[in-house]
Amino acid sequence: MLIKVKDLALRKIVFEENFAPGIIDLVEEVEQKSPLKASGRAELLRENRGAGEIVEDIRLVGSFSTQVEIRCARCLDPVPCSVQEDFDLVYRPQGVDAVADEAAISLAETEIGYYQGEGLLLEDVLKEQLLLALPVKQVCRRECKGLCPHCGGNLNLESCNCVSTMTDPRWAALEDIRKKLER
Ligand SMILES: [Zn+2]
Ligand SMILES: [Zn+2]
Repeated sequence: MLIKVKDLALRKIVFEENFAPGIIDLVEEVEQKSPLKASGRAELLRENRGAGEIVEDIRLVGSFSTQVEIRCARCLDPVPCSVQEDFDLVYRPQGVDAVADEAAISLAETEIGYYQGEGLLLEDVLKEQLLLALPVKQVCRRECKGLCPHCGGNLNLESCNCVSTMTDPRWAALEDIRKKLER
């Protein structure tokens, strides 16, 4: 759904959308398991920058929810995760701040996004908001043993012999010294 500036110039846009899995192009590690429901409104904010310069910002307010599966940070198994988030975002036309003194952009303004061309694609906003809402490191369960760093086996399912057979070269050097002393 493309939210066009020229439509917003006439009136606010109220939206209520359902995006089936696959419509929003997510990253490989995140799999959408149920329709993403999004509702809210878009409106135009006119920033008067003086000297007759008017910047047309898009404000997007709403919420979304969906179910996804993400990967366990230790064993890479899928972990179900439900997401429910509100958003209140402002998008400026791309390039409008390019000439502005960067130091003049306050901390609050670093939260501002940019749109290109005639408007903002709702799907792009939702993708970004969904990825931001997901936990950075999720484990399938607290006692997850993860993958063996040597053979890659899932230690929740199998125990491998790597730990007992691997000899750290630093210990091997100490072992040599010990043998010499014993002689
Ligand atoms: Zn795990
Ligand atoms: Zn192993």
